[in-house]
Amino acid sequence: MAGPVGVYISVPFCKAKCTFCNFASGVFGGERMQHYVERLCAEIRAARSMARGLNAFLPSAVDTIYFGGGTPSLLSGGQFGEIFQHLRGEFEVAADAEITLECAPGQLSDGTLDELLRQGMNRISFGVQSFVDQESAAVGRLHTRLQCEAEFARVRASGLKEINVDLIVGLPHQTEESWRYSVEQAIACEAPHVSVYMLEVDDESRLGREMLEQGTRYSAGAVPTEDEAADWYSQACVLLDEAGVHQYEISNFARRGHRSRHNLKYWERQAYVGFGLDAHSMLHTNMGAVRFANTSDLDRYLGNTPVVTPFRLLEADQEVAAPEVDIVGRNEAFEESLFLGLRLVEGVDLKKLRSQFGNAMVKDAMPALLEVCDAGLLQMNADRVRLTPQGRLVSNEVFSRLLVPVAA
Ligand code: SF4
Repeated sequence: MAGPVGVYISVPFCKAKCTFCNFASGVFGGERMQHYVERLCAEIRAARSMARGLNAFLPSAVDTIYFGGGTPSLLSGGQFGEIFQHLRGEFEVAADAEITLECAPGQLSDGTLDELLRQGMNRISFGVQSFVDQESAAVGRLHTRLQCEAEFARVRASGLKEINVDLIVGLPHQTEESWRYSVEQAIACEAPHVSVYMLEVDDESRLGREMLEQGTRYSAGAVPTEDEAADWYSQACVLLDEAGVHQYEISNFARRGHRSRHNLKYWERQAYVGFGLDAHSMLHTNMGAVRFANTSDLDRYLGNTPVVTPFRLLEADQEVAAPEVDIVGRNEAFEESLFLGLRLVEGVDLKKLRSQFGNAMVKDAMPALLEVCDAGLLQMNADRVRLTPQGRLVSNEVFSRLLVPVAA
């Protein structure tokens, strides 16, 4: 419980909107971005009083920082400097902290890169999605394969070695061959970490609406079937494994010693605190844990309408809408430990669950666990339970089948 906390910083700005995305991100001018950075810094300053207000334990020590979005690399070096100044003012950032920046290839200026390196940033996650230019262009990504390769070379030349490549399986125009090509390119560029996501099309995105209405502008007709995407995901698991990039979570693969320390916190239920639009947090309390989330409405976040985040709620004594706060009780904590743990390839240690939550809870969950084992979606060896490769394809179905009442 007293371990260091992970910090997530949400930067919801993008140079262009991807056709499948309806995430709370957008294309905004410089003034709004600066206003956002100021809000972010105010929120960081208020973090400790916010935690006190929730009776939550917010450690001073920080060992991971993750800038996600959006496209955080669009911020200037000066803006990152301000954010780090506030982070270091409120927290003790470990000398060996893992500091990750999400970045779109071609959207990281030399000035921003230099400042981030000066601040200790040591990991970059590139939103490549596909090494096939037609596929990237079809969903509104602005880069080409050649630009990706040039970016990898540039950041490596600056001394940065920890590179993640994000790929999406199921993009419009993707075929079995073109997907294999993208995976092989990710291997060939020797990125120590690769993430593979199934395309998730938001119904309210441009592509989502077009898929519902059978239009043609955003290549809705060229989206592979779910079965095809599932097959290709499985092929990627094999190809990456053969290349020494081993799966450790449903969507994440790494060479030995290169797992994302920050993301592991989510799956291992370690404390993390999020700042910025739609940022989520989980902090421990004497009673267990508390989860809370910031608003996903940018105007509200910026204070342009009279509302707020948990932070501002405590900063300003004014009438505000209730922030989204969930107290994680014993049953919820048990379910989280099971479901989040099952996302990891090594699975869940039932002995540990018993020692944390008592024998009765594990016993109550056992019939459902055994039923899903019989369906071939889980496997149980001694005291360890894990998803099978088939189970990883339908993890949400597995989790819903395991949602059974447990002893109080
Ligand atoms: S997918 Fe990412 S980069 Fe694309 S619009 Fe959404 S947040 Fe921005």
